[in-house]
Amino acid sequence: MNPRSTGAPGPRPRSNAITVDVEEWFHICGVGPLSHERWDSLPSRVVLTTRALLEELDRAGARATFFVLGWIAERHPRLVEEIRASGHDIGSHGHLHARVYELDEETFVADVRRSVAALRGVGVESIDGFRAPEWSINARSLWALECLVREGITLDASMAPVRLVGSTGWPRGPHVRDTPSGPILEVPPLVVDRFGNAMPIGWGWGLRMTSPRRMLRAIESVNAAGQPAVLTVHPWEIDPQPPRVSLPPRLRFAHYFCLGGFRDRLAAVLSAGDFGALSDVPALQASR
Ligand SMILES: [Zn+2]
Repeated sequence: MNPRSTGAPGPRPRSNAITVDVEEWFHICGVGPLSHERWDSLPSRVVLTTRALLEELDRAGARATFFVLGWIAERHPRLVEEIRASGHDIGSHGHLHARVYELDEETFVADVRRSVAALRGVGVESIDGFRAPEWSINARSLWALECLVREGITLDASMAPVRLVGSTGWPRGPHVRDTPSGPILEVPPLVVDRFGNAMPIGWGWGLRMTSPRRMLRAIESVNAAGQPAVLTVHPWEIDPQPPRVSLPPRLRFAHYFCLGGFRDRLAAVLSAGDFGALSDVPALQASR
């Protein structure tokens, strides 16, 4: 168990949600030298960095939804126990961190099942939420939503309403998507308009570069419009000594831009805001 944590307070209604994708610093899609065959030979940082996130959440009195990679659950079962013992919810981030639109249906379903089995294997009884790596459920892979419904997933948080990884035409708030096998609740990450563009302020470089004051103002205005804000962080983003590899420019920006001081900025946002797990946000419950 985590001796430093007294645990997050129990579930109660919250205006906004914080989600965590539990993965290693080397879980970066599409980089040959970081293919999954090599993962076991790379130094692990996920226990240290996830514990640091648990501490920040605990300090802020916030619950979160942790989307855990099945590969991580298999190697660090006690870490999953610590997350649960600290009072947080668990969902699946897939097993081998593959982009959904690069998989066929059969391989995707096998990957989801493997991750769910790994999480069940470490004591997580039910998994009803999913987040694809790199927001990779998009126009090329909408078929995946029906696969998730068939696997018992009722909430998906894999579609980003921005260019490059998703589409600016998608709704920015939680919405139900119908599939031939039934509905699924889609929960997009926070996006705001800035300089005429949709800016991904709720995760990655957009979250890391935004001052706490500006972030809290953005969340306030989204809440005033009747929507929850959903933020996403990764344990490796608050690593005090983050290992680095050579990456193509776009990935380098996505992974390494504005890491300095991010833990403090995140702590300020968490302690000033009203954050819970996805299941604590009434707007997400009403439509499930
Ligand atoms: Zn990921």
